[in-house]
Amino acid sequence: MPSWHCSGGSISALFQYNFSITSKSTFPKLLNYPSKLIENAVEEISKLPGIGKKTALRMALHLLKRDEKQTLHLSEALTAMRTKTQYCRQCHNISDDTLCGICTNPKRDESVLCIVEDTRDVLAIENTSQFRGLYHVLGGIISPLEGIGPGDLNIDSLLNRIAEKQNTDAAIKEIILGLSPTMEGDTTAFYLTKRLKSLNVKITTIARGIPIGGDLEYADEITLGRSIVSRIVYE
Ligand SMILES: [Zn+2]
Repeated sequence: MPSWHCSGGSISALFQYNFSITSKSTFPKLLNYPSKLIENAVEEISKLPGIGKKTALRMALHLLKRDEKQTLHLSEALTAMRTKTQYCRQCHNISDDTLCGICTNPKRDESVLCIVEDTRDVLAIENTSQFRGLYHVLGGIISPLEGIGPGDLNIDSLLNRIAEKQNTDAAIKEIILGLSPTMEGDTTAFYLTKRLKSLNVKITTIARGIPIGGDLEYADEITLGRSIVSRIVYE
């Protein structure tokens, strides 16, 4: 079995090939792969967002060049991530177990629920260390243009979650709408507010306004206008 770590032979030919494709005149020869296995790898890598064939080939050759163990660890990590992660049964955040670490943390305030679009928003809010409540991940946002309606999102499970806990010690008292200030975000917030109305919970939304360190004169009219309408008592 050939070793890809040896300095001579096929591997050095490959890197010469890699070098040659960086020159504009020879780049269109990308289809002439020296190996079917590399071609398959490039094909798969280039399916990732923002990765073209040229970058994919560079990555494939890099994975061949570095220590075999490191490349195998990457492959194992990707397989484990894909096959073993799941969505939290309660909040739909990505989790290693049936319930995620946030839902099972006894120090979190279960009376406050922050509604977000996806896991990236959970990470962003967690990184602020300012929120100690729980989350509910919708798994998307209402977008008629992309054909995403309320039925495609984790909205029924949200309503059930609130209803089940009503009149118990674990009752949810406040819902924070942590959605992006876009047309889709506002549509989703409006829809949720209508559905949540009958459940007797306080509904709040994250503040919108001038960013910290931002210059007032450079703020757009909508943001500045919203900041004035939503002004707060100075402390
Ligand atoms: Zn959870």
